[in-house]
Order: sequence, then structure tokens, then C-alpha cells
Amino acid sequence: MPRYLIETYGCQMNYSDTERMETYLENLGYSKTDSTKEADLIIFNTCSVRQKAEDRVLGRMKEMRSLKKNNPNLIITITGCMVRESSSRYSEKRDKLLNRVREIDICLRIEDLPQFAELIRELNPDDYTKIEEESLKDYFRIPATYSQTTKTQAFLPISTGCDKFCTYCIVPYSRGREHSRLITEIFKEAKELTEKGYKEITLIGQTVNSYGLSVYDKINKKFEDLPENKEPFVYLLEELDKLKEEGLERLRFTSPHPKDMSDDLINAIANLKTLMPYLHLPVQAGDDNTLKRMNRPYTVAQYKEIIKKLRTAVPDIAISTDIIVGFCGETEEEFENTYSLFEEIKFDHAYLAQYSNRIGTFASKKLPDDIPPKIKRERWHKLNSLLKKTSKCILKNYVGKTVKVLIETKTDDVCIGRCEHYKSVQFSSKKHKPGDIVPVKIIDSKEWILIGELVIQAQP
Ligand code: SF4
Repeated sequence: MPRYLIETYGCQMNYSDTERMETYLENLGYSKTDSTKEADLIIFNTCSVRQKAEDRVLGRMKEMRSLKKNNPNLIITITGCMVRESSSRYSEKRDKLLNRVREIDICLRIEDLPQFAELIRELNPDDYTKIEEESLKDYFRIPATYSQTTKTQAFLPISTGCDKFCTYCIVPYSRGREHSRLITEIFKEAKELTEKGYKEITLIGQTVNSYGLSVYDKINKKFEDLPENKEPFVYLLEELDKLKEEGLERLRFTSPHPKDMSDDLINAIANLKTLMPYLHLPVQAGDDNTLKRMNRPYTVAQYKEIIKKLRTAVPDIAISTDIIVGFCGETEEEFENTYSLFEEIKFDHAYLAQYSNRIGTFASKKLPDDIPPKIKRERWHKLNSLLKKTSKCILKNYVGKTVKVLIETKTDDVCIGRCEHYKSVQFSSKKHKPGDIVPVKIIDSKEWILIGELVIQAQP
């Protein structure tokens, strides 16, 4: 039986794709291995958000060359953000990576996963079974193995691709245009997960709250039968909220786009029983001119207004964000505006990146990457120091409060899990296990984690 190994880089979308790829390959007759020496197929599920992520994958090619010397039939595949064209090294129209890196045999756009068997056959015409199973011919219908998360919480993709075309981002080119999965299919998968005992589901999509609003979805009239004026994403959340009766405790989603943060969605966050009081809302910059160059279609004032509405509807909501510093043409004043936004909003957490040029994007063609690396680093450190200070203060405020923790892992008697606001919490318990949700009183806060004590509940 041939063996496969997948190395996954990047965001939750990639980890979720890996879970679907595993099912597909197992149906193709492959079994999983953790050893590169045993593998007949090695897949790099790549991320292009930063140059470093690409460099890490390309840096593995020397090792792949020596593995191929010992196993000439070894197939190296690249999928994820680095790929533009699904092709093998024998295809007529080939991805540029296949010309550039001779160790690579197949490039696979993830939404073309159902065509993977054909690409493998282009290399080994006599090998491996053909996919007959209907559900494996549609990317969204391929069941996931859920191997990339703990058995308490799962990622559930509801859409793929992106129509937003931020000037620095490669996703609309690598993943293609946005399209959404049917509500019935998502509900079915969420119900099955709940029946299996999963307590928390995170809905994922590149811009998860534009679910059902893309050009593709509209042309294909996928959401025409929804109640009048109902936003597809809000309707989906309301439907999934009904699974509370069957044991689904927590619903989250990531990442929403500020442009599609409607009042109805804010109301849903405030009122649905399963939705947790935490939102990751990428802002990317705190200056209108920078946002314009990034092609982010909102102003700083509009972003602040969304935060105000969120905090009015859910006063204790935790909010995190993404920021890029040193974007093309970012002046000192523009950066200071981003810094001020940070001071004002007081984010619970933020993923800070120094801008790096991604080939193929609008920015790489039209906007000079003109901020010296030293300045980018300085701006990053300045923002990071502020973030550390704010986050420390916010965590300190939890001391003395009781939160509900969904236990994700347990080693000896030490349990680690997340509370409603997505903070990591550590405490001790002899009798509880992963999957339990228990009250924990916070007694201390470290840099990124809360320390607590189990609240002993009175026996009924
Ligand atoms: S919204 Fe912008 S950053 Fe996010 S995936 Fe789409 S193009 Fe990329």
C-alpha cells in the first residue's frame, strides 16, 4: 500500500484542506505515514502570506532531492497558496513552480482536489485506483478526517476563494473566486460533528461573513429561497444555533471582513446562544490612505463604528485583529495613525506582520516595496510592545472572575482549554477530561495564558 505524508503551513483553511485531502488519499488507496523516508507521496500544503513561509517550503527541496535518489517513484506535490495552475510535470500547461523547482512533480490548486488522481496518473499511468465515489468528486463534499484539531472542536469550511482583491494578497489568484457551500450541506456536517461529541465548531472562509454574497453565488442563485432580506450568513448562524439542543455548545467564525459586518450579524452575535463573545476582525492598517492603497474598502472611522456597535451589543466582547506594517508607501504619519488606533481600540490580541512583496499581486506589480526592512522592524516592535502591554492588562482583568473552559488537552492532571472569550486557561483537575466544559476561577495571568482553579460545583 503506498504511503502519504502532508506537511501543512499557514491558516486554519489550510489545516482544514489537509483533513479533506487525507480522506481523498485514503480512498485512493494511500495510508498515512509520519516518516518522509517511508512516503511515496509527500505534499506541502503551503502558505504565501509571508516570504518566510514560502522559503521554508522551498528550503525542504534539498532533502526531497536526496529522498528521490533512494525512492525514484516518490511524488512531491505542492498545494495551497503557492500554486496557480493544477498540473503535473507532464501537463502541457504547467504551473511556473514546476519549471523553477525540479524536485516538484505536481502542483495542485486545492479546489481541484478531485482531479488529484488524474495528475498522479499522468506520472504513473499504471498505478493507483480511480476515484468512483461521487462525494469525492466535489471538493466541499469530501468528508474531513478532523485530524488537525482536538476531538472537542472542529473547523468547518463554508466558503472558499475570495473576491476582495486586497492589493497585497495572493489568495484570489491561488484559491480563485469566492463561492459558498449550501446551507443544507454545512448543517449536515455540523450535525454529524455534534453527534460525534464535538462541542465547538469554527466556521471558516477567507471572508467568512460574505457567505452567499459572492458573484458566483448570485449567478448560480444558490441562496434565492432564503426568507426575504435575510443575509445568508446570518441565516446559516441561526440554523446552526438550533444544534444547541443536540449538544453543540460553541460556535465561532473566522475571518470576517469589516465590509460585510452588518447590523444583523452584530445582533446575531449578541443574541444567538451558541455564538461566543470573541471576534477576530482584521483591520490591516489604521490610516485611510494606507487602507486605500491596500484596496480595503472601509475607512478607519467605519471600522471604529463597527467596534462601537459590537461593544454596545456585547459589552465584554474580546476583539483581535491583523495588521501589516511597512506596507508600500507607509509614511511615519500613517504608521502613527495605526498606532493610535491600537491605543484606542485596545485589541485583546493581534497578528502583526511586516509587509513582504508577494509576486503576482497588484502591489508587487504597481506599488514599490519602498519601506526599508529596518523601519518595518522598528514599527513592528513598537506595535508589538503596545500589544503586549494591552494584552497583559486585559488578562489581568480576568483575575477573580469565573469563566467556562472547554478542555482541549490534559496531561497528568493539568488541563488546558479556552474560555468563552478565546483565552487559553490552565488549571488542575483529576476527574475532568477533554470535551468537558467546566467553571474555572481565574487566580493569575501570565503573558498569554490565564491560570485558574476549578470551581467545585454542588451536587444536585
Ligand atoms: S479579504 Fe483580502 S486579505 Fe483576505 S483573502 Fe481576500 S484578498 Fe486576501
